[in-house]
This record gives sequence, C-alpha cells and structure tokens, in this order.
Amino acid sequence: MQLNNLLILSALFFSIISSTKSCYNNNHQTKYKINKNLGNAVVKMTENESPPSKKAKISSNNSADGATFFSPPKSIDGATILNQSSCCEPSPQSKIGSSEGGEDIKAMLLREANYDISDPNNTSKRKNYMSWDDYFMAISFLSAQRSKDPEDQIGACIVDQSNRIVGIGYNGFPRDCPDDCLPWASSKEDESRSVLHTKNPFLCHAEVNAILNKISPDVNDSKIYVLKFPNNECAKMIIQAGIVEVVYGENQDNCDSTRASRIMFQMAGVKTRQHKFSNPVEPLDFSSVKDTSSEVEKATTAPTVSNQLNSNNPSDRYKDLLKREANYDPSIDKIRKRAGYLSWDDYFTAVAYLTARRSKDPNTQVGAAIVDANNCIIGVGYNGFPRNCSDDHLPWARKADSELHKKYPYVVHAEVNAILNKGSKDVKGSRLYVALFPCNECAKVIIQAGIKEVIYLNDIYHDTDTCKASRIMFEMSGVETRMHIPSKRFIDII
Ligand code: ZN
Repeated sequence: MQLNNLLILSALFFSIISSTKSCYNNNHQTKYKINKNLGNAVVKMTENESPPSKKAKISSNNSADGATFFSPPKSIDGATILNQSSCCEPSPQSKIGSSEGGEDIKAMLLREANYDISDPNNTSKRKNYMSWDDYFMAISFLSAQRSKDPEDQIGACIVDQSNRIVGIGYNGFPRDCPDDCLPWASSKEDESRSVLHTKNPFLCHAEVNAILNKISPDVNDSKIYVLKFPNNECAKMIIQAGIVEVVYGENQDNCDSTRASRIMFQMAGVKTRQHKFSNPVEPLDFSSVKDTSSEVEKATTAPTVSNQLNSNNPSDRYKDLLKREANYDPSIDKIRKRAGYLSWDDYFTAVAYLTARRSKDPNTQVGAAIVDANNCIIGVGYNGFPRNCSDDHLPWARKADSELHKKYPYVVHAEVNAILNKGSKDVKGSRLYVALFPCNECAKVIIQAGIKEVIYLNDIYHDTDTCKASRIMFEMSGVETRMHIPSKRFIDII
C-alpha cells in the first residue's frame, strides 16, 4: 500500500512524453507547435522520500495549548500559494552575498535556526518548475479545451500585476445561447453558406470572454495571454479594458484585421510579444491516478450549467426562432459542436494539477484552484514559502536534525495559498479542486473561508490522523468532498 502510494505519487507528478503536437486542429497555415522531445530525463523521488507514518500525530509539534507550531504535520507534504512574484523569484535585496540584505538573511538564519544557507548539503529548490509565462500560456491552452468550436479552440488568460489570474475565457457562444443550437460552420468551408448559418455573427472570442468574465473590478494594467494574436474586434476591447500587454502564441495571417490590431495597439501603447515555450512541456499525466474512493462515496459528477442547458434540448426550444430569423435548422446541419471538449471537472482538476508545476518543492508539488458558482476560477495556489520568503534560502528538506532545518515550519499549502490569493471579494459558496485531500490545517481554513465543496484527485494520506481530522471537520461543517479522476489519461497543455 505504501509502496503503491509512492509510485502513484511519483507517477502523478512526473511524466515523460516524446511527441510533437500542434495546438489546435484548425486549417490555419501557421500552427503553434512545440517539440516535446525530452529524451530519457526521469525525475525520481529522492532517497529520503518516505511514506507517511501512521503514527504521525497531528499535534506532535505542539507548543502550549495545543496550537501546532509546525504546521502542516510531518506526514503531509505539499501544497501552496499562487502568484506573488515574491514566492518565486527572490528579490535582489535578499540574495546572499549580493547585498547587505543578503548577508543579513544569512546571519539571521544562523542566529535563529543555526541554519547555514551556504552549506552545499542543503536541499535546494526544484529546478524544473514552470515559468510564469509558460504557466499562463498553458492555462490559456487548457481553457481552449473547453471550447466547442470544431475548427478553432482559442483560450485567453488575464493576469494582474501581482501575477494573479483575474479572467479566463475561450471562444464560444454568448451566455445561455446553447452550443447545440447555433451554427458552428465557418464560411471558409462553404462560401455559399448564408452568414447566419455560420458561427461568425454569434461567436465571442476568448479575449472578450476573459475580459467579461473578470473576477476583479477591472483589468487595468494587466497582461493578457492568448493563443493567437488578437483580431481588430478583440484589440478594441483589450485597449478599452486597460490591458497593457498582449502575450500571444501564434501569429494570425497578415490580413486587414491583424494590421488594424497592430495599428491600434501601437497607438495605444499596448505592448505585444510572441511567447515560445522555453522548455519542453509534458502533458498532464493522470494515467496512474487510481480511484480509491470506494470507502467514501463514489464520485458523482455535479450538474453543471452547460449540462443543464444541454438536457433541455434547446434545438427544439429555439427551432421556431432560428427558422423565422435565419431560416436555419440545426437538426440538419452536419457541422456540430466539437466532441471531446474538457468537462468542467476535468478542466478545473487540470488547472489545479498544472498549477503544481510552479512549485519549487523538490519532493512534492501540489496545486489548487477555487471555482465560483459561475464556473469562474477565483483563486489558484501551489505549495511554497510565504511572500518574500526566499525559495533559495529557506530549507526544502523533509528530514533534518532540527525542525528548523526542514521545510515544514515555513511552507504554505496550495489550498491556503489559493484562498489567500483570491481575486474576488471572498470565496464563500465556492468549490475547491486540489490534487491531494486537504490536511487538517488546510481543512480549517477551507471551512472558515466558506468553501462548500472539495474535489480531490488523490487520497494517499487517507489513514493518517491529519486526514481523519479533516474528514471530521468537513462532515461537521457540511463541506462536501468527492474524488474526481479525469476522464482523459493525458491532457495537453500546449
Ligand atoms: Zn494542507
């Protein structure tokens, strides 16, 4: 069981894929491609990785009055925050040897923890964590996989100055305009088609949806990541929304629309740059994740807004309207919405999983995503040290002679980081997607923040006291929990 856990964990977070993929299955000349040949680079669990001890006590490190100082308990790893540039790249002032500030940190850690940051035996941070640019572009790509458009799937992601995601969108029909009803055909395939029998008059582009789905009061001074260079209609919206930088994956054909975008972006002072993935990017690998939810309730897929709409058979509901206004009968149109798009649960689980790739923890990477009732992502997080506490100076070790030389006193779990990095006023009534079933410290915060449902991928610490405590508190407070195993074994992120 414990060996299995280890294997699951190691397979969970590391995968090797060699392939060349293109971004979408469209007809465009230019494809957004990346070569993913990784050779044989295998990432293994470190030697001192060990399964959790069943004897691990929740309060094993407690000081007075039962308050655990070393949170989380030793048996649980992983988890943390998102965003803040601070948690990733140490500020220049804090670099050792590079300034007086660096020397201060070294001296302070020696004084307080007897920890020498220049000791070569220290466990250093993970090297192959994802850059912000790669991460946000991958989020855009994941959201594109929600698109029902059979020709083009485009995603966009808006990021504020604190590297917080404040809006995500993909191309699709407007709110409540059903996917099974309006036409998906493009005029490229059949020029004789009436324009009202094509998607063009109805489709909202990813950039516009990302702006309109924003979770913050505005998107001023933010960046937008989008898989394709914006057309002129989107360029207007981007400029008017106050976005100051466009990071795009693929160039558009050099048509009048593209030229108009470039003219307006330059006049408005909106920076544009093309993004190329700096390192090979493996797909998210869920192939080894096992459904262990037999002891608890089997996962049931929550009804989503789109599911409810689909079940109402909108083709019948809007038949007369479409006939009257557009002489269009969806039931005889051979071009239908795309099959194989990501379900909401698969999509949000993938976002949580992808977010883990930002973690600097060399042993365990955990990601979390919080989603509101409108299926908007309102917070993401991964395990890491607190804001402005350097990844390069604090210890990453799991085992050491002194508690202060281990990561546990310092690391913040993914769930807590996702809550604290929320882009909305609060997270009440929301659901949380997380790779690992939450520890008791996170459970307290989840409950107090008002989150109503926890959807997890992995429950390998099920029998530990910390998870038992979580389940007790979740059940008492009415927070529902369920395991979700993605329906796809691999999910591409570029
Ligand atoms: Zn936790």
